[in-house]
Amino acid sequence: MRAFTSDSDPAPRTPALPVLVVGGGVAGLAAALDLGRLGVPVLLVERDGFLGGQVMRLDKLYPTDHCGFCPVWTESAAALAHPLVAVRRHTRLLDLEPPATGEEGAVAVLETRVPAVDPALCVACGLCREACAARGVAGAMQDRPVDRTWDPAGPPCPSIDFSLCNRCGACVAACPVQAVALERAPAVERTPVADVVFATGFAEPAGPLAPEFGRGSHPDILTALEFEALSAEANGGELRRRSNGATPRSLAFIQCAGARDARYLPYCAGVCCMHALKQARWARRRMPGLACAVFFTDLRAVGKGYEAYARAAADEGILLLRSRPGLVLAPEPAAADAPGAAVAVRYEDFATGRAVTAEFDLVVLNGGLAACPLPGAERIRPKEGPVAGRSCGFCAEPADVAQSVVQGARAAALVAQRLVRRAGGRP
Ligand SMILES: Cc1cc2nc3c(=O)[nH]c(=O)nc-3n(C[C@H](O)[C@H](O)[C@H](O)COP(=O)(O)OP(=O)(O)OC[C@H]3O[C@@H](n4cnc5c(N)ncnc54)[C@H](O)[C@@H]3O)c2cc1C
Repeated sequence: MRAFTSDSDPAPRTPALPVLVVGGGVAGLAAALDLGRLGVPVLLVERDGFLGGQVMRLDKLYPTDHCGFCPVWTESAAALAHPLVAVRRHTRLLDLEPPATGEEGAVAVLETRVPAVDPALCVACGLCREACAARGVAGAMQDRPVDRTWDPAGPPCPSIDFSLCNRCGACVAACPVQAVALERAPAVERTPVADVVFATGFAEPAGPLAPEFGRGSHPDILTALEFEALSAEANGGELRRRSNGATPRSLAFIQCAGARDARYLPYCAGVCCMHALKQARWARRRMPGLACAVFFTDLRAVGKGYEAYARAAADEGILLLRSRPGLVLAPEPAAADAPGAAVAVRYEDFATGRAVTAEFDLVVLNGGLAACPLPGAERIRPKEGPVAGRSCGFCAEPADVAQSVVQGARAAALVAQRLVRRAGGRP
């Protein structure tokens, strides 16, 4: 593999600045690894403690229905092992500043927040947990971070639940490698970078997006990511109502809940039809008696094999209903604990033109996916358009895993092309 600096050039070179890749999801991983393979040094920053992004929160992946974790883990391991890819977890891009006059690239303002138990130092000896159990508060020291901010490929680093911790300091004193600290100030640094690839992905916006769908008003009205966690094989794969732990008899997915709506998110989130079908199919595979309905505006199954995937869902008995419900009503608080109290979905039956109310034990709201910001994107030089060819994956446009990976590779190729141009055509 050819290095970025040429062996045939006898002139001493200053070390090449790295390309900053912001976000360690599938798009960022693809961009970082492709740049590394081209011989370009990379600084990959990820604000969470693990690589893989949202895919690490998914159970199975359409269209193959394979486990989402394994392929991402392989790519994460490859990035961590690559000599030209420096990976910084727990590190967030806050902003970009312009470089010194006349120079290309940017100065990245990075903030690193190391967790209370530093995973880079922890040797998983368990002494902190023992000390906590003896002197602290039961449950304050967890085996694993509850928010999944750990590296699944690394040692089982514990974490502190500060809502329970009495700050006695027993864990700090017990740690033989000084990996535990109850207070850590975030460190902010400024790093010059040659160019930037944004792969910041998406988030489900906090709070109720479209109030008529009742998000947050009842435990049995969930977002798609919440349903993914509830039904995941890793969590037992057994579907239960969140309100009372009972086995659900019926499940509804409401597509475009807050999306394709001028009042909230005026675009199609691109991936929701497919992941609703995936979630419905997996729910019925695990619970064949479960009544399952998908309320859709128009079913968007665009991709190789996706239409067949949708048809298979219908053949398996999942009710695909073309209708856009206008109201989701949680049971009255008095009835909420009563056995069978269900969530009501009000929709128009297109066959009869009549408004219908149907009841479901679980309702999943789909569509509220928003691109994460690209901090400082407008300040990068050269001005080839603020994010022209620099953003990839879901932060650039709604994209599933396959599309995000392709976009990551494209962004890497465009950055490499720009670097070659800047170097006067030399590789
Ligand atoms: C419920 C659900 C189910 C899905 N199921 C499937 C499926 O079965 N198959 C499929 O193909 N697709 C599926 N998708 C879509 C899939 O999740 C996305 O395509 C994929 O996650 C996009 O990858 P990404 O790298 O662009 O973004 P993300 O996965 O969102 O990764 C972005 C990363 O950037 C980090 N980041 C953000 N801002 C900063 C910052 N300022 N500094 C540092 N780091 C930052 C984030 O922490 C995150 O790790 C599903 C989506 C949902 C919501």
